[in-house]
Amino acid sequence: MGEFDLIARFFQRPAHPAGPQVALGVGDDCALLQPAPGTQLAISCDMLVEGRHFLPDVDPATLGHKALAVNLSDLAACGARPLAFTLALALPAANEAWLAGFARGLFALADAHGCELIGGDTTQGPLNICITVFGEVPVVNGKRQALLRSGAQPGDDLYVSGMPGQARLALEALQGTRSLPADVLPPLRARLEMPTPRVALGLALRGVASAAIDVSDGLLGDLGHILQASACGATVDTAIAINSIAADADSTRPEVQFLMQLPVEQRLALVLAGGDDYELLFTAPVAARAAVQAAALASATPVTRIGHIETAQGLRLIDAQGQPVSGRFASFDHFA
Ligand code: ADP
Ligand code: MG
Repeated sequence: MGEFDLIARFFQRPAHPAGPQVALGVGDDCALLQPAPGTQLAISCDMLVEGRHFLPDVDPATLGHKALAVNLSDLAACGARPLAFTLALALPAANEAWLAGFARGLFALADAHGCELIGGDTTQGPLNICITVFGEVPVVNGKRQALLRSGAQPGDDLYVSGMPGQARLALEALQGTRSLPADVLPPLRARLEMPTPRVALGLALRGVASAAIDVSDGLLGDLGHILQASACGATVDTAIAINSIAADADSTRPEVQFLMQLPVEQRLALVLAGGDDYELLFTAPVAARAAVQAAALASATPVTRIGHIETAQGLRLIDAQGQPVSGRFASFDHFA
């Protein structure tokens, strides 16, 4: 199978019911995008490298899902609606079963978000997947609606979606540094290998959140990016972070029960420093609390208020009594 057969068989699909913004897809020298009037294009690129971002034996369908999911997560953090993506693929060999699985996982997620594959590049080489996504965000009355890292204001509340830490727990199990009960690994593994990009939440937070980022490297580390860009500090209530987040999840699920019985320090480390969950971390004015709850409801995404933004630079962790949590957690505090 040659390069062009491979593209035609696995990645070129008959004209697809994407929006009118995709004026020309796969097959020519360039794709053509026609952003709707009054919108900006949001563009993001993420590369997945074997051994670094995924294990060599990972199921190709889950890999196809994740390669796009991590990119859609960036659009979500920006409040952008997905339009289209390109796929640059280096493959050691044209393995048909692998390609079919990869394309299945990729297009299932793409179709769920109405995001069309419009082009790419295919070459022989060590397995490497690079996707660029294009989304659109309106400009209303000359005001940019995109959510940025730099918009947090002192006094704003700090929120996180979902239940971070699950992907990290799965990774530890797969790497053999932790053993998990048989009924706990599969749901956690799905969190690691098939993350849900929070696109609906990101869209619902437009005009509500003051700043946002997706959590790929760990909650505190990514919070550091918001603080740096917004030139302010924050206090995170660790008791809320580890208790309320789980309270939002279905407590009968075995993985939630397992997480909740871990020692507090381990739970904190998972929630605050675990990466790869692709949840949204965002800030919003206190006056927007009802609007944040409405956005969570509208997008069917659990959201927990875990702290607030302050003028004083740095990151402070407090416990249920309001006392500073330090010492053993100092290593998470990269940006203080
Ligand atoms: P060029 O040589 O002009 O860069 P190519 O021959 O590499 O174009 O690709 C031919 C067409 O197939 C282009 O429209 C390109 O965008 C598309 N394409 C190549 N690889 C992929 C891929 N992995 N997925 C989707 N489209 C692809
Ligand atoms: Mg080319």
